[in-house]
Amino acid sequence: MTKMAVLVAPLLFIGCPKEDPPARPRASASSSTRPVPTSPPIVAAFNGERAMDHVKKQIEFGPRPPATEQLAKTRAYITNELKSYGLTVSLDEFNAATPQGEKKMANIVAEIPGETKTLILITSHYDTKFYKDMSFVGANDPAASVGTLLEIGRVLGSRKEKPKVTYRLVFFDGEESFCEGWSDCGDEKNPDNTYGSRHYVSQLQAQNELENTRAMILLDMMGYKNLELGRDPTSTRWLQDIIWKTGRELGYTKVFLDREEGVGGDDHEPFVAAGVAAVDIIQLTSYPHWHRADDTIDKVSAQSLKIVGETVLASLPKIIEYVSKNKAEGKPQQIQE
Ligand SMILES: [Zn+2]
Repeated sequence: MTKMAVLVAPLLFIGCPKEDPPARPRASASSSTRPVPTSPPIVAAFNGERAMDHVKKQIEFGPRPPATEQLAKTRAYITNELKSYGLTVSLDEFNAATPQGEKKMANIVAEIPGETKTLILITSHYDTKFYKDMSFVGANDPAASVGTLLEIGRVLGSRKEKPKVTYRLVFFDGEESFCEGWSDCGDEKNPDNTYGSRHYVSQLQAQNELENTRAMILLDMMGYKNLELGRDPTSTRWLQDIIWKTGRELGYTKVFLDREEGVGGDDHEPFVAAGVAAVDIIQLTSYPHWHRADDTIDKVSAQSLKIVGETVLASLPKIIEYVSKNKAEGKPQQIQE
């Protein structure tokens, strides 16, 4: 866990787009360089109760560590839901060498194709941490973020217009460590955690898609009824700034805080290491039920899922505008328009 000073950067937002969606004539949509405007109805379309139903469903499967029947059932549930929203779903299957031997794992990937091959990933892990002697159902870690991501998928899938960029929702397997502590086992080259996200980065690389991947949003433990989100210092600052500012503009000023959230490692880190802008939306230090048997449904609220879901949806047009404007600074040749 790194301790870094929290940098408050209020000036970064000057020049950011306004909330009000500008008129966007259909005919000029494809030739326009304007970002897809924030669409209030789309944001309002996020249904916290629906997201909550997904949380309940996952908990009903029981503890869901990698390579268990319970996780297989969860995977089938997630996959079927995504397909029912009209999304194209694929599995990124792999074998992972873990302290408990080789485990079969699978990331779930759902795509919403856009006008360009520029990729924005919205993600969560879907495995629960393995405990030998504890029934750990992970209502907030990770059922809440999975439920929120599914509902985001439903909303994005219901859009009539093709998005300017391609969205991928990625549900990572094997985020949690098999050993008790995050870094009790494994080494720097082969850590005992983030199996799915590390594998997915290697797949993006192999498919020559890493250069097109311009933003990665990670949801993890964001469903607590007393939701409070601090800033993870390892996240990419501009991306975090857009999301935090958007959340506050939506009125969630008591949720999106400037205090530092010491995370110490998560699925966004392999992306940051690979040069992809990534942000972790997580409440770890002030969640009293983390990795405890009482991380149960009563700790999670539909309102918290809605706050994060709405904020992510409202942030997407601003993220698209940012990556479009900043082509020249980053990887201009690889971005396909
Ligand atoms: Zn966890």
